Amino acid sequence: MAAMKNKQILLISRPAGSPIMANFRIVDADVPQPGDGEILIRTLYLSVDPYMRGRMSDRKSYVPPFALNEVITGGAIGEVLESRSKAFEPGDIVTGMLGWQLYSVAKETELRKIDPTSAPVTTALGVLGMPGLTAYFGLLDIGQPKDGETIVVSGAAGAVGTIVCQIGKIKGCRVVGVAGNDEKNQYLEHQLWVDETINYKTADVKQALREACPEGVDVYFDNVGGAVSDAVMPLINKGARIILCGQIALYNLEKPDVGPRIQPYLLVNRALMKGFIITDYAARFAEGVGQLGQWLAQGKLKYAENIIEGFENAPQAFLGLFAGENLGKQLVKV
Ligand code: NDP
Repeated sequence: MAAMKNKQILLISRPAGSPIMANFRIVDADVPQPGDGEILIRTLYLSVDPYMRGRMSDRKSYVPPFALNEVITGGAIGEVLESRSKAFEPGDIVTGMLGWQLYSVAKETELRKIDPTSAPVTTALGVLGMPGLTAYFGLLDIGQPKDGETIVVSGAAGAVGTIVCQIGKIKGCRVVGVAGNDEKNQYLEHQLWVDETINYKTADVKQALREACPEGVDVYFDNVGGAVSDAVMPLINKGARIILCGQIALYNLEKPDVGPRIQPYLLVNRALMKGFIITDYAARFAEGVGQLGQWLAQGKLKYAENIIEGFENAPQAFLGLFAGENLGKQLVKV
């Protein structure tokens, strides 16, 4: 243990607009010692997620902001090195909010054991973790898709979006995916059987959506907001359901963005627009993981991962989310 050295990534300044590398610093630190009921973990994978951008600002939200000069916390997978809890033993693979550091100490209640024999461990941060559950509950609980309906998915080639598209197909819907490059759209069409795709960076999105959705839009799963969402609203059908999952197009704006007024579309179509945070569904996570796992085992669900190697590359991987560098779930292999 004496030879082990910890490294941590701290947030040292709050981004003004888009986050930059200078907002982060890598420092050496001591390896923490577990107390009673605690577990020492060696980090294997880090998850970088768009919601972390919100925590970098000093604004009230559903999770408190990161403190400056402290280690950034986020979803991670690790291996238990030492356990002072009866619930875990050395060698166990676990997931939890462990932080951007090589070694973490956590309480037993903060960790969940992963069975590495049932699926690759990285799925615990993707299709069988937070993004998969977000897709599952957002689409099925709020969206309530019905056979033959049209679903539009923005951010369609990301961690959440790829799963939404596939659940939409499983439910018998026509799925239209909107993503930021042709390679992603090829993947959606040829690997995930998405019916139509639109590259929002090169297409006339309004026109392309009109053509892709001749019967209008029954369900809109919104991961990005902004101009793509503005283009969807005039196409919504009577009784449409709009799932507000994420607004990544707005996360780096310094001032609120004022788009077209959408209330008239919602009103005349008696449409539902509902935001949600995945933790709202915590009591039903086992159900979600069970169904997603079953679809995975049956070959009905595929998943993509974009894995960057090297702990010190976590900030770069995070910045890459805003440049659209990831297809599927963005992870860092430590
Ligand atoms: P993704 O894997 O989708 O990664 C982010 C993607 O967003 C990028 O790859 C990029 O793809 C796209 N993007 C980045 N900037 C913009 C922009 N300005 N306009 C349009 N698209 C952009 O992330 P996740 O799947 O983890 O998350 C997707 C969304 O869901 C996020 O908004 C996130 O905050 C939200 N979320 C919400 C949860 C909840 O509980 N409500 C839980 C989890 C996620 P492209 O190449 O297509 O531009």
